[in-house]
Amino acid sequence: MTFQEMIEESSKIVFFGGAGVSTESGIPDFRSEDGLYRQKYDVPPETILSSDYFFSHTEEFYKFYRDKMLPLWAQPNAAHKKLAEWEREGKLLAIVTQNIDGLHQKAGSKRVYELHGSIHRNHCLKCGKFFSAEEIAKSSGVPKCPCGGLIKPDVVLYGEPLDEDTVRGAIDAIRHADMLIVAGTSLSVYPAAGFIDYFRGRYSVLINRDATPYDDRCDLVLHEKVGKVLS
Ligand code: NAD
Repeated sequence: MTFQEMIEESSKIVFFGGAGVSTESGIPDFRSEDGLYRQKYDVPPETILSSDYFFSHTEEFYKFYRDKMLPLWAQPNAAHKKLAEWEREGKLLAIVTQNIDGLHQKAGSKRVYELHGSIHRNHCLKCGKFFSAEEIAKSSGVPKCPCGGLIKPDVVLYGEPLDEDTVRGAIDAIRHADMLIVAGTSLSVYPAAGFIDYFRGRYSVLINRDATPYDDRCDLVLHEKVGKVLS
């Protein structure tokens, strides 16, 4: 059976994606050849993007974060657009994403479970005041709230738990899906990668440039670019 036929026969598709969904928008992923983890830093990005580092080296965290994690110029690509179209047509139940860039919403998608949070939400740790990603991008040094509190992005850093409601919604959607598309993810970040095990539907498809641990377990494997396949 072809990918196209599976799509046509499905009405409750769930898309589970990762950083590879946004590389065609110009945002590097973490683990590919040209990914962020292959670049040379004095402190590894895995360390910088941890909760401990955020609180102990806040200024250095923000220097890296502003430089590498705020691609506010990026636009949705063919994959983001097709998924938004499927949702409008009533074929797509939800998107479960590990991405934090907000490009699915920018493309028009509504039911998006952001397992690792979003750069577009930032809050003061003292009074809870909201700040946009643009405000963080424009700030310098350590961004502070007018109340004096430290502002933290609502991005799940290493060492932090996932948001319970988001996890519940994501697992529920995967459980009720008749088709699961896993794309643009190395499936190496847990617990997120484990959520696809809740799928009980008919068709499972993997679209990823490199091989993943899911290749042997799904109905169809496409080692291609996700934007190209979806368009
Ligand atoms: P990853 O970097 O570990 O893996 C990305 C995978 O996508 C690779 O296996 C690669 O082969 C594949 N890939 C890259 N471009 C592709 C394309 N055009 N088409 C198909 N496949 C492609 O990413 P991950 O599994 O999502 O885990 C990394 C973590 O990093 C996530 O938790 C995420 O929060 C974070 N992250 C997010 C962004 C973003 O929001 N855009 C960017 C980088 C990292």
